[in-house]
Amino acid sequence: MQKKYIPFAVFFVALLMFLAHFGTRYTTAAKPVSVFAEEEKAIYLTFDDGPSTKVTTAVLDVLDREGVKATFFVVGDRICGRRDIMRRMAEAGHAIGVHSNTHVATEIYASDEALLKDIEACAEVIKEAAGVTPTLYRFPYGGERRKRQKALVEAQGYTVVGWNAECGDGVARDATAESIYRTAVSTAGSKRRVVLLMHDGAGHTATAEALPRIIAHFREAGYDFRTF
Ligand SMILES: [Zn+2]
Repeated sequence: MQKKYIPFAVFFVALLMFLAHFGTRYTTAAKPVSVFAEEEKAIYLTFDDGPSTKVTTAVLDVLDREGVKATFFVVGDRICGRRDIMRRMAEAGHAIGVHSNTHVATEIYASDEALLKDIEACAEVIKEAAGVTPTLYRFPYGGERRKRQKALVEAQGYTVVGWNAECGDGVARDATAESIYRTAVSTAGSKRRVVLLMHDGAGHTATAEALPRIIAHFREAGYDFRTF
């Protein structure tokens, strides 16, 4: 490039940058903001404390029917005699994570070593039964509040998953399909990324009952169903 053209080139580039900058702003401003926002809504259905024969089977039936994938945080001890359910879960494309091998708080949290042993034992059972190596983990009794243990688990290569919405099926013994549905909707509120805590352990039949309505609600509200 000849010397005399350089100032023109600089001016031209500056003009392009100016147009690119303000042009983008005007284009963005002209678009309805809500269209972009709608695409961003996602819900992760998560189930703790299974597998159980009746409830997990009922939950898997609903998910099949609705074409929705979920994440299951399972208990190793409860897999015994339910390998077919675990295999079905994996083959359907649901995500399987470690919850605990025993779900006995005094054992799991006795020491760091005990915690890691519990996770390792559960992971082994999952591998054996479902043929998948779990990389997800959810703490029994308390989400993400155990900061130090969280770092310890993450150092083993696990992604620790908490939740930001719940359906009340873990605390209320008298939870009904109606109360479960209502609690799920109200705790999710207007969050754009919802991680919904549910339970598929024995006795949680009301959760399986509420599931079709919960799926219908979030589908209608424009949420995309995802797994971790
Ligand atoms: Zn649990």
